Amino acid sequence: MSSPDAGAVVITGASSGIGKACAIAFAARGYHTLLLSRRLDDMVELDLANSKCVAVDVTDANLVRQTIQRYEANHGPIALLINNAGIMPLGKVHSQDPAEWAAVFETNALSVLHASSAVLPAMLSRGAGTIVSVSSIAGRNVYANHTAYSGSKFAVHAMMESMRREYATSGVRFSVVAPGIVDTNLLSSVSDASIVASYQQTKDRLHGGLTAENIASAIVMIHEQPDSVCIRELVIAPTPQE
Ligand code: NDP
Repeated sequence: MSSPDAGAVVITGASSGIGKACAIAFAARGYHTLLLSRRLDDMVELDLANSKCVAVDVTDANLVRQTIQRYEANHGPIALLINNAGIMPLGKVHSQDPAEWAAVFETNALSVLHASSAVLPAMLSRGAGTIVSVSSIAGRNVYANHTAYSGSKFAVHAMMESMRREYATSGVRFSVVAPGIVDTNLLSSVSDASIVASYQQTKDRLHGGLTAENIASAIVMIHEQPDSVCIRELVIAPTPQE
């Protein structure tokens, strides 16, 4: 069973929402953590024991790799990578800025490859490790105005399942967590006011949705399964969400 002795936890997008809740949850259980996101102050402010915070844009493959490799060289093995950083610039295809499509695929999908490829060599040589990617219920179902976002999250499921098969006998586990609506700042990346208003209505109907802590505790549960158990996928939504 994975425990703090097995190695550290790397969390992307640890400055707010689900990533921040994961950082707090794992630190409280005695894990060493490497926290990555662009807003360094928000991670440092958490003031968690045994955590190292580094300002990293997950779309920068070289920076992600160097930061992870430097951490491993100085602090020892990484047992768990949580690919959580994400943006959700919802929009209508006929009017959305194409720059948002590039950003959403780079941040939500390509970053999974950047960070996974950085931790995999050491995990493969140890024959142990876990990679959890935070996808979305929109990576399993499609919704209006979610075209690029949903595409990026379907890609996360596909890439994680492909890696799981590729490394099935290696001892490394691959899991996807697909949340429904969670009460975080994610909606701040939407610039279309009418989409924000209708999303907010759904959120209000669901009493705000899940908490970030609900998702963090699911990720703790996935990681702390016996090494022989791989939870491949978990869809977690507020009970009344369609
Ligand atoms: P938040 O907006 O609260 O957090 C997003 C995090 O991602 C922030 O820490 C942000 O940090 C980080 N991030 C964004 N872009 C980058 C980047 N280029 N480089 C590094 N870090 C980045 O939203 P959530 O906590 O809700 O989102 C976390 C994940 O959960 C996302 O992948 C999202 O798609 C997924 N999700 C969320 C749902 C919800 O309803 N909230 C539902 C389903 C899935 P910073 O700005 O400091 O870089």
